[in-house]
Amino acid sequence: MNNRIFLSKSNVPLNNLNLLEDNNILEFEKLLEEYFGKEKSVLAVNSGTSAIHLSLLLAGVNKGDEVLCQSFTFSASANPIIYQGADPIFIDSEIDTWNMCPYYLEKAIKHRIKNGKKPKAIIFVHLYGMPAKIEEIYLIAKKYNIILIEDAAEALGSTYKGQKCGTFGDFGIISFNNNKLLTTFGGGALICKDVKHKEKALFLSTQARDKAPHYQHSQIGYNYRISSVLAGIGRGQMSFLNEYISFRRSINQFYKSFFKEIEGIHVLEESDKNLFSNHWLSCILIDKKKTGFNAQELRLFLETENIESRPLWKPMHLQPVFKETSYFGETISENLFKQGLCLPSGSNLTKNQLKRISISIKKLL
Ligand SMILES: *Cc1c(COP(=O)(O)O)cnc(C)c1O
Repeated sequence: MNNRIFLSKSNVPLNNLNLLEDNNILEFEKLLEEYFGKEKSVLAVNSGTSAIHLSLLLAGVNKGDEVLCQSFTFSASANPIIYQGADPIFIDSEIDTWNMCPYYLEKAIKHRIKNGKKPKAIIFVHLYGMPAKIEEIYLIAKKYNIILIEDAAEALGSTYKGQKCGTFGDFGIISFNNNKLLTTFGGGALICKDVKHKEKALFLSTQARDKAPHYQHSQIGYNYRISSVLAGIGRGQMSFLNEYISFRRSINQFYKSFFKEIEGIHVLEESDKNLFSNHWLSCILIDKKKTGFNAQELRLFLETENIESRPLWKPMHLQPVFKETSYFGETISENLFKQGLCLPSGSNLTKNQLKRISISIKKLL
C-alpha cells in the first residue's frame, strides 16, 4: 500500500491508548510506571499543576464543593481547586515533617460534616521532598471515605516505609518543572491506581474528543498532554534519577554536620527511620534568640556574599488571594515561614561552593 498522505503533517492520534501514539511519550510513561510499580498507571502531562487539576476532575470536584488542602505549600497545590469553582479549606502543618497536620485534618472534616457538607477531596504535600504523616492521613481519608490526592511534585524518589511517594493517594502527582529534582523543562505526571482513570485523564487532557469521524465534544476538554520533545528529555533524565537523589542527600548531610555545632539552627531532617527524603531543597529554621540573627537577616547577608537563599513557602491561608478561605490549625506553618530558609541545594553545587556558604554563615555568627 502507498504511504499515507496526511491532512497536516503527521496526524498522530493523541487520545487513544491503543493506537500507535508518540513513542517518546509512551516510553517515558513506561519508565515512570516501572519506577512507581507495575500496578500503577501514569499519564505524562505538561505540568504538575495540570496533573492536580486532572485529579480533581477525576475526583468529581465541582462548583461549590470543598477541598481540604495543606496550607504550607506552593500555590499550585491549591489553585486547581479554584479552577473547578470549588472552595479550599486550608490545614496547618505539624512540626516533624512540616506537612499536613493529621489532627487538624480530622478536626476540619468533623466540623464540615457537622455543618452538613463532607469535603470532596484532600490534597496533601511532601514539601521539600520530606514524606508527610502518610499513614495517619491515609487512614483519615479511608475512615471518612474522601478521595486522597498526593502532591509529590517535590518528592520524586522519596519513600515512606520503602514505598514511593506519589503511590499512596488515590491520585499522585509529580512535577518535572525546571526547578525540580528531575526536569523535562516543564512537565508533570499523574499517577493513577486504575488504568480507567488514566484513560479518562488522557481523554480530558487531549481536548475531550468523542469517538466520531468529525470533531465532537460532550464534555469540556483541556490541552494538558506533555510534548513529545519534553517526554524525550524525560526518558533520558530517568537514568540519572538515583544519582540526583544521592547528590541532594549528600548536600543535606553536609548542612546537617555543619549546623550540628551551631546552636539555634535546625536542619529539616527525617524524623524517623520510616522516612526517606530526596532532600530536593535543604531547609533550616533559625532561632534568633540563640543566633542573634533571623532568617531574613541571614538571607540578606548571604545576598551580599552573592549566595542565593530563599524564604520557605508562605502558607496559603496568609496569601492575599486566599484571604476569604477557612483555615484549621494554629501557627505552625506561619512560624515555619517566619523562621525558615532554603539554602542552595542544586545538583550543580561544588564542594568549594558548599565551603564558601559555610564560611559566609560563620562570618555572620
Ligand atoms: C512545583 C510544584 C507544583 C506544580 O508543578 P508545576 O509542574 O510547576 O506545575 C505543585 N505543587 C508543589 C508542591 C510544587 O512544588
